[in-house]
Amino acid sequence: MAVRAIRGATTADSNTREDIFNAAQELISDIIKANGLDTADITDIIFTVTPDITAVFPAAAVRGMGITDVPLLDMAAPDIDNALKMCIRVMMHINTELANSGLKHIYLKGARSLRPDIVNRKKISVAIDGPAGAGKSSVAKQAAVDMGYVYIDTGAMYRTVGVYGLENGIDVISSPADVVPELDKIKIDIKYEDGVQRMYLNGRDVSSRIRENDASMAASAVATVGEVRRRLVDMQREMAKAGGVVMDGRDIGSVVLPDAELKIYLTASVHERAMRRWREYNEKGIECDFEALKRDVEERDRNDMSRAESPLVQVEDAVLLDSSDMIYDEVVAAVKSMIQNAENR
Ligand code: C5P
Repeated sequence: MAVRAIRGATTADSNTREDIFNAAQELISDIIKANGLDTADITDIIFTVTPDITAVFPAAAVRGMGITDVPLLDMAAPDIDNALKMCIRVMMHINTELANSGLKHIYLKGARSLRPDIVNRKKISVAIDGPAGAGKSSVAKQAAVDMGYVYIDTGAMYRTVGVYGLENGIDVISSPADVVPELDKIKIDIKYEDGVQRMYLNGRDVSSRIRENDASMAASAVATVGEVRRRLVDMQREMAKAGGVVMDGRDIGSVVLPDAELKIYLTASVHERAMRRWREYNEKGIECDFEALKRDVEERDRNDMSRAESPLVQVEDAVLLDSSDMIYDEVVAAVKSMIQNAENR
């Protein structure tokens, strides 16, 4: 057994007792859940809060969770220019058999770029758009991890709305606009567990569910609905506000982050994209017909490029990266070097 420290942070929606309690309790219970802790394992919890949090301190919220015999401490963080607003940070010490590398640190609600004063590199916003199957998400995720950026997968948000429709008797394929009256009932939470984006639909982890084939089709369908796009785009802009993000999708450079310092249009030929999918299925032992996969790719391209709402386009200021003849590592290296150049501009 050793004493180790788990870190975490979140933001409160407002300086009220209720919002501070909610934010602190969510953070602590997520840390406990993600690390499989028993409250008896916790030796102490130290919070810092930005100076705009005054209504109540997070330790009170922990007591409110019934954690009564763990020493707690609240401290005010210094007032730093451009620091995140209403931010609660925590360090929880625990008794554990785990090595430091086995601990899960939890960052919620945009609380990631915490201290602009100690980040000596300028971090920018990176928009990566392109057609389905071009490898955007795996490349974007790897480049983000290597560069210390946060990866935001916007397709996952459309997929989550699609799954809500599928599970609530809405015929999303033929009448996708029927989700609009339900939008207020759809609560999407995005959490980062050790840098991996996880999606929650009304409190339930749907990260695997949204990858199923019916969810892809449902996502494409609801993504044609203007009201759905407006809601998700608002959330995406909010998430990117602090900078240091690599965001991928179809409309990031054109609509979500038109001022992104770096825009990349990542594509590959239809043949190559269908071939990659074919190899993927083959490796998983799933039988499939190459020509049918090729038709699927062409159809998704047509859908994404011809829809009225925010169609997929290569904007003028985007760098074209055609990965047809490149291996994965080369594409990641190319994206990283573009980010480095853009940081230094
Ligand atoms: O990228 P991914 O395949 O996960 O996206 C799922 C669907 O959501 C896509 O077929 C696309 O039509 C839609 N989408 C979108 N705008 C985005 C991201 C995804 O329209 N920014």
